[in-house]
Amino acid sequence: MRHTVLALAASTILAGCTASSVTTTEVREPAAAAEAPASAADAGAPQIGRFGFDETGMDRSVAPGDSFYSYANGTWAKNTVIPADKSNYGMFTVLDDLSRGRTREILDEAVKDPASKIGNAYSAFLDEAGIEAKGLAPIQPWLNEIKGLKSKAGYAALVARATRNSVGGPVVGFVGQDDKNPEQYALTLVQAGLGMPDRDYYLSKDAKLAETRAAYLKHLTAMLTLAGEGDAADRASAILAFETGIAQAHWTRIDSRDATKTYNKMSLAQLGQLAPGFDFAAYFRGIGANVSDVIVAQPSAVKGIAALVAKAPVEVLRDQLLVRSLDQYADFLPKAFDAENFAFYGTVLSGTPQQEERWKRAVSFTTNALSDDVSRIYVQRYFPPETKAAADKLVHNVIAAMDRRIDQLDWMAPETKAAAHAKLAAFTPKIGYPSQWRDLSGLQIRRDDPLGNAMRSAQFDYAYNVGKLGKPIYRWEWGMTPMEINAYANFGMVEIVFPAAILQPPFFDPKADPAVNYGGIGAVIGHELSHHFDDQGAKYNREGRLVDWWTPQDLKNFQSRLDALGAEYDAYEPIPGLHVQGKLTMGENVADLAGLTVAYDAWKTSLNGEAPKTIDGFTGDQRFYLGWAQVWRRNYREANLRQRLLTDPHSPSEQRVAVVRNLDPWYSAFEVQPGQKLYLAPAQRVRIW
Ligand SMILES: [Zn+2]
Repeated sequence: MRHTVLALAASTILAGCTASSVTTTEVREPAAAAEAPASAADAGAPQIGRFGFDETGMDRSVAPGDSFYSYANGTWAKNTVIPADKSNYGMFTVLDDLSRGRTREILDEAVKDPASKIGNAYSAFLDEAGIEAKGLAPIQPWLNEIKGLKSKAGYAALVARATRNSVGGPVVGFVGQDDKNPEQYALTLVQAGLGMPDRDYYLSKDAKLAETRAAYLKHLTAMLTLAGEGDAADRASAILAFETGIAQAHWTRIDSRDATKTYNKMSLAQLGQLAPGFDFAAYFRGIGANVSDVIVAQPSAVKGIAALVAKAPVEVLRDQLLVRSLDQYADFLPKAFDAENFAFYGTVLSGTPQQEERWKRAVSFTTNALSDDVSRIYVQRYFPPETKAAADKLVHNVIAAMDRRIDQLDWMAPETKAAAHAKLAAFTPKIGYPSQWRDLSGLQIRRDDPLGNAMRSAQFDYAYNVGKLGKPIYRWEWGMTPMEINAYANFGMVEIVFPAAILQPPFFDPKADPAVNYGGIGAVIGHELSHHFDDQGAKYNREGRLVDWWTPQDLKNFQSRLDALGAEYDAYEPIPGLHVQGKLTMGENVADLAGLTVAYDAWKTSLNGEAPKTIDGFTGDQRFYLGWAQVWRRNYREANLRQRLLTDPHSPSEQRVAVVRNLDPWYSAFEVQPGQKLYLAPAQRVRIW
């Protein structure tokens, strides 16, 4: 999680809520996808269904024009129970189970070698008895540092040490590419300081969120009590009041995803003038960043937060860092802390009844802390070169389709088209795994010190991140592991990235019908590519530079299309009273719309003029769109869906599938009629790329 936040500053991922502090998993479901690899006996057959799509999951009693999601996925949705240790369950989680199961085998072997670093990290995490026996002793030196803060003077330096320990202070600094000078790294300062996922959780009048606030207060109290602190209830209230003030200062997620608004470069003197009350110079010194200027993402929030820090009693500042530390390291503390952390962050915030088994969390920790050491083994075993070659070809075809579509746009001037073509020509696709592995030999791991491993890993990663300042851009670097079921677009790098593990059914199966593959992984490739032309990505040029390369009229034409798409998503109401936020999810919706459009073109071109045959009564066009719907099969617990609607830039799965209502060929493929729920008159269908 920490890793992702740092590495993906100016980028956008395919799915999921990276903010969630709880990852979830469960061993195989009888769902169709991702069963064990096909045996040699049926080497010619796809893993799923007869042509790559699971027909048994459909609900043919629903008209495709009323709910394409339910038509394609309704029976699967009805019959699939979310496992007790998950907040949601679908194709992404099925594949995640597969990745973690495979990684577990790698780690079980490694444990037998006392010299194996990954084995030692895994083994230490699994030692619950040892953790219980040590109590708070391993974390006590860090807690003592916090408690040793006697006056405001040392606070910024303490927050810097907290940042290096992955413990959230009121602001956080990290190093990423400078948006306006992408050949250089820069330090960015962002708003932070909340223990709940978003400002809405503190400020909204919604009854459910008020309940969550009450549960949070209880959680803060419980953590302080467990740590042996007196006056826990009063001190918890003071933390909540302090954070409520921070929430008021915070920018919304909609503003925070705006690349233009969040680029505010200033000197340290200017920052000091803007936001007196927090010793930024001491903070930057403490995190090891020797800089003369900094990009402040949310200036008014940083100003407000600094003022709150200046006003707050030192005890409250201490207590907040204390609780945040206990939560951050709950996995490595006695059971009572771990259970209390899960009760709030897992059950209250995500609706997950049961915590994951220890081994699953141990796999996640080891993969996060020693990602490259684990990944190297994983890709040797589970990523055949043929898959990479096939994916390379698909990526090439999708980029070519995007190139052709740009020429056909009726709303864009020739000079802007030329710049768009140039940007496409500059793309770097990354497929499978990095060309170079990161050297983790400097990270000390001990079999008898799980908490120490976690803290040293946090410090090691943070030093690595800050160490980029002044160096050439690490172009080989990846922001995801090959085991992740996801993909991303990174604006500054002008790259699209597809980890090995997403190149599996239901996304991609070399033995499946190409129409299904193009509707699955083809659309995912198109999605990531299109991010570079979404409402934010389109602000970056062929060098990955945040610069205006559009004519004013083209920008106006683009904006009116975005507004129409925003209104379409604003109208969805997945939970009564809670709508999809069209502006928050804009980038993802543009990427879905354009990605699916481009993938369809790429598939059509790949047919070389031949008409696809009918399979099991489905035409080629039908199979393409069913392939798209299948990858989004997902059931949510209500708390998880609520959290996503408030914080996740992705629309929920059902609405992601519904993007088909903007595409003309979908109407003819399924004979969609006026009056059906998804029907849009041709003039109302949004067409962007
Ligand atoms: Zn995306």
